Amino acid sequence: MVLKKISVGSLGTNCYILGDKKVGEALVIDPGAEGEKILDLINELDLELNYIVNTHGHHDHIGANQFLLENSQAELMIHQDDSEFLVDPQKNLSSSTLLGEVEEPKADRLLTEGDEVICGQWELEVIHTPGHTPGGISLLGNDKLFVGDTIFAMGVGRTDFSHGSKKVLMDSIQEKLLLLDDGLEVFPGHGPNGKLGEIKEENPYL
Ligand SMILES: [Zn+2]
Ligand SMILES: [Zn+2]
Repeated sequence: MVLKKISVGSLGTNCYILGDKKVGEALVIDPGAEGEKILDLINELDLELNYIVNTHGHHDHIGANQFLLENSQAELMIHQDDSEFLVDPQKNLSSSTLLGEVEEPKADRLLTEGDEVICGQWELEVIHTPGHTPGGISLLGNDKLFVGDTIFAMGVGRTDFSHGSKKVLMDSIQEKLLLLDDGLEVFPGHGPNGKLGEIKEENPYL
């Protein structure tokens, strides 16, 4: 089982590479930028990129989708409620940065609550955790929880966008994520990872 965390792009987005050496497959969560660096690492691991999952549609989580899709046979997945973010620079917020507009290919598979994403021994359940965006998801499996920008070790996702909602975000966190096992390792979209139980105790926003 492979799990690599790399920081990509000017916003320091956490991109996660999950893999299974037995089947030779890799899954990438949130390739926000620096596609070549991501692909080089996958090649070094002797894996083939078969799956890309965006936890949500903001530009800093999707910006290298196109590069990876052009250089692999991977299937791109995102929650159905964020699917338009891929092709809309205003929705994915790239139009309000100086980094250039981000327009990515459409997804191959649209996810909803309860779907499973499988890559070798990785079996990830899709948990719909809206609030930061309407189609934000968390991925739960193998004692790991990938949460995108829903929650961070010491913060919660921003909701001051037209598509954000503080109430919806806090409901997602309280009613879905915090009910899960305290022993889960939480991997956020930015910053350090940590055990869910510790985040519950130390995060000042909860
Ligand atoms: Zn975001
Ligand atoms: Zn982000």
